[in-house]
Amino acid sequence: MENFQFVRVKDAAQAISTASKSKTAQQGAQVRFIAGGTTLLDLMKLNVEHPAQVLDINRLPLAKVEKQPDGGLKIGAMVRNSDLAFDPGVQKDYPVLSQALLSGASAQLRNMATTGGNLLQRTRCMYFRDNVSPCNKREPGTGCAAVGGENRMLAILGASEHCIATNPSDMCVAMAALEATIHIQGVKGERRVPIADFHLLPGDTPSRESVLEPGDLVTHVTLPPPAPGSKSLYLKLRDRASYEFALASSAVVVTVERGRITRARIAFGGIGTKPWRSPEAENALTGNAAEAATYRKAADAALAGAKPQSENGFKIELAKRCLVHALNLVTKTA
Ligand SMILES: Cc1cc2nc3c(=O)[nH]c(=O)nc-3n(C[C@H](O)[C@H](O)[C@H](O)COP(=O)(O)OP(=O)(O)OC[C@H]3O[C@@H](n4cnc5c(N)ncnc54)[C@H](O)[C@@H]3O)c2cc1C
Ligand code: SF4
Repeated sequence: MENFQFVRVKDAAQAISTASKSKTAQQGAQVRFIAGGTTLLDLMKLNVEHPAQVLDINRLPLAKVEKQPDGGLKIGAMVRNSDLAFDPGVQKDYPVLSQALLSGASAQLRNMATTGGNLLQRTRCMYFRDNVSPCNKREPGTGCAAVGGENRMLAILGASEHCIATNPSDMCVAMAALEATIHIQGVKGERRVPIADFHLLPGDTPSRESVLEPGDLVTHVTLPPPAPGSKSLYLKLRDRASYEFALASSAVVVTVERGRITRARIAFGGIGTKPWRSPEAENALTGNAAEAATYRKAADAALAGAKPQSENGFKIELAKRCLVHALNLVTKTA
């Protein structure tokens, strides 16, 4: 790990003005915020990230989960993943979010990991982390060792010839199905970004992963009120039962009335280069009978555009079965 200056910031204004001096908020940023540190410190030890300044934002007053007057929820960026998962309001109104958080990492990591840090965690692609292989995300223009290399864990949706890395977050998949909004404070003031627009597809600039600009601080995330009568569930399929990233996961939020699905919000994890909302699946479900044949059609529609790599073709059927099973489980209780 290279030498760096550690600064404990007192308020958001100090954090934003100091970070705004960085040339970028993306890979290679000279100034980085540190929250739980469970992504950033690993990458600094691996020399993948080498900021000159690390700004500790742990003292900022952003650690509350608050019910909103409209029935929605406001989640501070510094709320720990474990606190959010066990929040009674989240467990009651947004079980998909609690389940997604609890399926991630380990209890110790969840006690440190924060909402803001989880939104911005980096890919687990081994070539990105090894610091020697060609990797357009780590070093733009060097190529992508994963294309034709070890790509079993990597993406089948949203990839480009320049990068096929998956977004590893479970929390973000639930937030995509819940249509969360990310609130950002920057040098030019505050702005709101729907989670669907927050993460970027790799295209020909895979080192640019989110819409954040230098100085931008995620302050909180809001969730709309739960849709009346809706049920939700997160199902994660992985190589072992805990402490493992998803091969495929599904977040489902559905409303069933008189045997028909009247509203569906569907997102996948483990298969996309960003948390993967599927309007195709949602359209195939809405208005149709809540039964296995409908779920299979929705899964086929969701994966129709999948482009497998040399080692991950199995993910297409796995993701389909994951969605079908999640829908079967959630509508049993609907
Ligand atoms: C062994 C291991 C297993 C894991 N397994 C899983 C898993 O199964 N599922 C899963 O989803 N995750 C998993 N994770 C990832 C874990 O969830 C993330 O590391 C964690 O959520 C990151 O949060 P943090 O607060 O520690 O982030 P940090 O490491 O502090 O920060 C991460 C990034 O976010 C930026 N950042 C942090 N807060 C803000 C903010 N408020 N505004 C702007 N930028 C900000 C930082 O500058 C940094 O670039 C695992 C991690 C490890 C180490
Ligand atoms: S998939 Fe992306 S992160 Fe992995 S080696 Fe290729 S460019 Fe790098």
